[in-house]
Amino acid sequence: MSQTPFSSLKLHPALLENIASLDYEAMTPIQAQSLPPILEGKDVIAQGKTGSGKTAAFSLGLLEKLDVKRFRVQSLVLCPTRELADQVAKEIRKLARTIHNIKVLTICGGVPFGPQVGSLEHGAHVIVGTPGRVEDHLNRGTLKLDSVNTLVLDEADRMLDMGFQPALDAIIEHIPQQRQTLLFSATFPDQIQSIANRIMVKPVIVQVAATHDDTSIQQYLFKLDDDVERLTALRLLLMHYRPESAVVFCNTKQETQDVANALGDHGFSALGLHGDLEQRDRDQTLVRFANKSVSVLVATDVASRGLDIDALDAVINYDIARDSEVYIHRIGRTGRAGSKGIACTLYYEKEDYKIARLEAFLDQTFDSQPLPPYNVLEQATYQPPMITLQIDGGKKQKVRPGDILGALTGENGIAGKQVGKIQIFDNWAYVAVSRDAKKAALNKLSKGKLKGRSFRVRQI
Ligand code: AMP
Repeated sequence: MSQTPFSSLKLHPALLENIASLDYEAMTPIQAQSLPPILEGKDVIAQGKTGSGKTAAFSLGLLEKLDVKRFRVQSLVLCPTRELADQVAKEIRKLARTIHNIKVLTICGGVPFGPQVGSLEHGAHVIVGTPGRVEDHLNRGTLKLDSVNTLVLDEADRMLDMGFQPALDAIIEHIPQQRQTLLFSATFPDQIQSIANRIMVKPVIVQVAATHDDTSIQQYLFKLDDDVERLTALRLLLMHYRPESAVVFCNTKQETQDVANALGDHGFSALGLHGDLEQRDRDQTLVRFANKSVSVLVATDVASRGLDIDALDAVINYDIARDSEVYIHRIGRTGRAGSKGIACTLYYEKEDYKIARLEAFLDQTFDSQPLPPYNVLEQATYQPPMITLQIDGGKKQKVRPGDILGALTGENGIAGKQVGKIQIFDNWAYVAVSRDAKKAALNKLSKGKLKGRSFRVRQI
């Protein structure tokens, strides 16, 4: 915790007085770094997870600017799920206790539309909502955002994961360009950078958590005895490290498929990715790996090019890359954005010359490591946290992420945090849900309606 007191900020005395009564003794690091530029009216991109105090950071910013006598929507906070929106609204109300007559309204999917229209007619100063439902109200003319001067995107990476990019774009069209935009995200995939470039003006970047400088890739080489099969060595490594997401690189298509099949036979959650797959199978494979319902992807270098995964726990070179630059490219996929990653390479004595070539290229020497003990094979294989449901309706049927999220999390539904990535294709959509929520999710989606229609839903 930083030692900077809130009183060092140019905040309204009523807000400071309230903060003092809340036992917030000092600012958290993200608050200490982001609040000064936020209060100067600058656009800010901040890396902040739940628990970092990010909500208070943007909430104080928007409350300081708020003119309570002007009964118009002045701030819009967009969140990926209803639970988060409820928490954020609660925190804003708590921080705004000393501002009389302030109205904070949540507008989220998965609940009836009608009562929201009624609440919106009564007006509000701050709206906290999920993108799909906010967009719906804008389209129906039941919400106006032409007086908004602060836009907050909270957990922006999660919103993009859930496929809300089109909804965000549509919403931003309704907000004046003269505004302050604050973006909070736990991770920074390229998509965040591109959205920031489009909607923000000279943003100040605040990174409190680990940065790329702390990124570390542990490289391990395993020289195999001639009587040890590569596949056995691979199983030992997967059992020992139990990665949530790992890519195993092979040099040929045939081997890629063989290794994926063999891992499947041994109970691993593994799929192959190579150039011979039909487009639809390729899409499904990438969807399932990216949404954490498959933990091992066995791939060729060419096929893995389109892979956009933020954090791989492990890269395993089943075969040494033919080229040292390819080796660097492969292992660079792990240990991203401050997380630790491991890169394992399997080889036989007759391939010593390849290792020597790699060492010369990297100007680094490696010691071969012993393989993990064989008894790790007696354990149960790692089972990924999510499963993927396929819905036989997509863009052409006008199915949108908010519809799926709403159907899943509506009355008696599953929790927003049990919903993972949502990806919509032309004629079908995929949603990841927690393994333990599978039955309830299947039930909600197949009995419920999306866009007034029933669609076939199944686990893939
Ligand atoms: P958040 O990361 O925004 O979800 O906040 C995590 C929790 O920390 C919330 O319950 C806040 O009420 C609380 N909190 C926020 N800022 C502070 C602070 N400066 N000191 C103590 N608690 C705080």
